[in-house]
Amino acid sequence: PSPTLRNPEEWCRSFNYFISQCLIKDFEARPSVTHLLEHPFIKQAQGKDVALQQQLAALILEQQEAGCKTKTKHERINTRKTLIIESCPDDDLVNLEFLDEETIISHLQKRYDELQVYTYVGDILIALNPFQNLSIYSPQFSKLYHGMKRADNPPHIFATADAAYRGMVTFCKDQCIIISGESGAGKTESAHLIVQHLTFLGKANNRTLREKILQVNPLVEAFGNACTAINDNSSRFGKYLEMKFTPTGAVIGAKISEYLLEKSRVIKQATGEKNFHIFYYIYAGLYHQDKLKTYSLPDRTPPRSEQHQHRTVMQDIVSSKLYKEQFDAIQEGFRNIGFTEEEVNSVYRILSAILNTGNIEFASITTQHQTDKSEVPNAEALETAASLLSIGPEELQEALTSQCVVTRGETIIRTNTVDKAADVRDAMSKALYGRLFSWIVNRINSLLCKHSGMNVGILDIFGFENFKKNSFEQLCINIANEQIQFYFNQHIFALEQMEYQSEGVDASLVEYEDNRPILDMFLQKPMGLLSLMDEESRFPQATDQTLVDKFEDNLRCKYFWIPKRVELCFGIQHYAGKVMYNVNGFLEKNRDTLPADIVVVLRTSENKLLQQLFSSPLTKTGRLRQLSMKNIEMKTIVDTMEMMRHPEETTSMRRQTVASYFRYSLMDLLSKMVVGQPHFVRCIKPNDDRQALRFCKERVMVQLRYTGILETVNIRRQGYSHRITFEEFVNRYYYLAFRAHQMPETSRENAVAILQRAKLEGWVLGTTKVFLRYYHVEQLNLLLREVI
Ligand code: ADP
Ligand code: MG
Repeated sequence: PSPTLRNPEEWCRSFNYFISQCLIKDFEARPSVTHLLEHPFIKQAQGKDVALQQQLAALILEQQEAGCKTKTKHERINTRKTLIIESCPDDDLVNLEFLDEETIISHLQKRYDELQVYTYVGDILIALNPFQNLSIYSPQFSKLYHGMKRADNPPHIFATADAAYRGMVTFCKDQCIIISGESGAGKTESAHLIVQHLTFLGKANNRTLREKILQVNPLVEAFGNACTAINDNSSRFGKYLEMKFTPTGAVIGAKISEYLLEKSRVIKQATGEKNFHIFYYIYAGLYHQDKLKTYSLPDRTPPRSEQHQHRTVMQDIVSSKLYKEQFDAIQEGFRNIGFTEEEVNSVYRILSAILNTGNIEFASITTQHQTDKSEVPNAEALETAASLLSIGPEELQEALTSQCVVTRGETIIRTNTVDKAADVRDAMSKALYGRLFSWIVNRINSLLCKHSGMNVGILDIFGFENFKKNSFEQLCINIANEQIQFYFNQHIFALEQMEYQSEGVDASLVEYEDNRPILDMFLQKPMGLLSLMDEESRFPQATDQTLVDKFEDNLRCKYFWIPKRVELCFGIQHYAGKVMYNVNGFLEKNRDTLPADIVVVLRTSENKLLQQLFSSPLTKTGRLRQLSMKNIEMKTIVDTMEMMRHPEETTSMRRQTVASYFRYSLMDLLSKMVVGQPHFVRCIKPNDDRQALRFCKERVMVQLRYTGILETVNIRRQGYSHRITFEEFVNRYYYLAFRAHQMPETSRENAVAILQRAKLEGWVLGTTKVFLRYYHVEQLNLLLREVI
């Protein structure tokens, strides 16, 4: 039998708790075996082996009938005792008797083998990627989790979404769900599932709106996701999706913010990786609609030149049925959300223009006076691109091959070398794509976010990255993760500490690894790494080597070092591990310059959308929130945000570097997160081969370690992992000091009486709760078993 199969009796016993709570509740009338076999949990159980499922269902019925027959009070009490003892829920790592790494891993593995991919650590949800479709996301499941207490059902992503929704409605407070994990761990899928459950919950009146909201993710992801070596649908941008609700919880809109789109993918992809999905979709879609010609796309790939290997799409995808279907879905999405025909048409034209621009080549020409001059040998590519952009081909060629320089009041035309011209071309493609993407996002927002309301935000942002070669992009991504980790630490730590303090218990037991010093090193002004890089970017003569020298001279921090004998490199000790960065191209990537000549030409376009994209420098809409936080946790975060505040942030974005814009976005994101009540989802990738049911202990261990899960467990372990109100405590354990029929008052005194009778040591009393060590609960349960 496969390792997922378990003896039905054992299964039934371990699920006793869940069965009694959830199955029986589901079937108010007495279910039959057939009924039970239809239940989604059972359908999922036992590796889908029907025979075993039948045995299981029969056992459950037997149990339930036994429960129904118990009529006398005494018997009922006994049933309850059994339930309490056997309920010891293993859904939450914090409840484990031993909390060492090995136990935690084995525990997760056991659950994974049984397709229990979700587990709690206190209020954090761990989600192991199942790498197979589970049938636990149907509307039936949404119903099952709707409005239930966490302990009522097994852990689930819907439970997290539900808790956020309930938090918003009950406390009238914005919520945010922070999903983290490395690439391919399941963040984007989790975000979709959360949106799915939230639209289910907020369905009150407007069905079409719900459908529109569900289409936002696929649409944006067509433009922002791509196939990488790690994930076939890898998000190449960070996304914060806010779902807007009325105070009574009806959904009224959605708003997206995007962060750090990896624009460079438009012009170049690593081996084995692809361009953004949308290029393949339009290619296949237009082919099937017989419209390739309309957009001047060749139905054959032009011969590839050695030099410019960025012919964006390949012939073989043209006929792909899958891509065509995706294209249809995208078109449907555009229409449904409310884009006009004209807008969609312009989007396709710009995308085709980008494809054609990639084909423009340059060759050097030598005249008597000049040697550094270039021309375009393949005029048709240039003409096609220009026509798609609705600009003049001569003007475009001019802008690509020369530049206007103003010195001492005089305008001089300088010609571009072949390499320089190719850089300008690529910069133009990147700018076109980047601005188009931002425009689409803003347009969706203007169509779907007409009312303000309370919101649940969902953050799906690229996880920590550490490749063989790490560049500027990885640095930005890892700084963002460093910041989110800091937020996580503050929150978990502060919550814990606040509870101790409010209960009058010594809070010094809460210790954790603070990554603030690393953040300071990156973000401080004027001597932080980002500021130093910006300063260097302003010097035209600066090179990547001078940048490294500058870092070396100014960054004094144990988290930063320059390795010997490796050129143009520096190392950072991130919270998640050591990363070596290669500085090659850092300055250029940071400057991200788009020559003014190109902007001028594109502004002359007859295409309205293009004019709009280049008429004004793109600014983030809205001002940063004013933050006035009172409690300690928020203060520390606001404090680090102050550090990031950039002097130019409210002025023009025109001459901004990527680093300063990044700093701004990060702060914008944090300001949104800080006002909300956070919920954390930690996605874990069980193996690197994307195989279902393969659990690689080492890989999971590493991820648990650096996401702070193990530390969180440790904090709970060193401190008082169990905090139970006097009432709950007395109700649960009174058999230890009283007789069954006594039903003692649920007071502090009686709680103490039980604790003393049980001869436990090391507990403390707060004002409303008993604070227990992690091993106390197990001891209490053992004693309970003895007295019964
Ligand atoms: P990330 O956004 O973290 O990079 P994704 O959410 O794109 O990762 O997930 C990568 C792949 O893993 C998905 O394409 C899907 O095949 C699989 N996957 C992730 N979560 C689930 C899930 N809950 N159920 C089934 N498959 C999943
Ligand atoms: Mg993703």
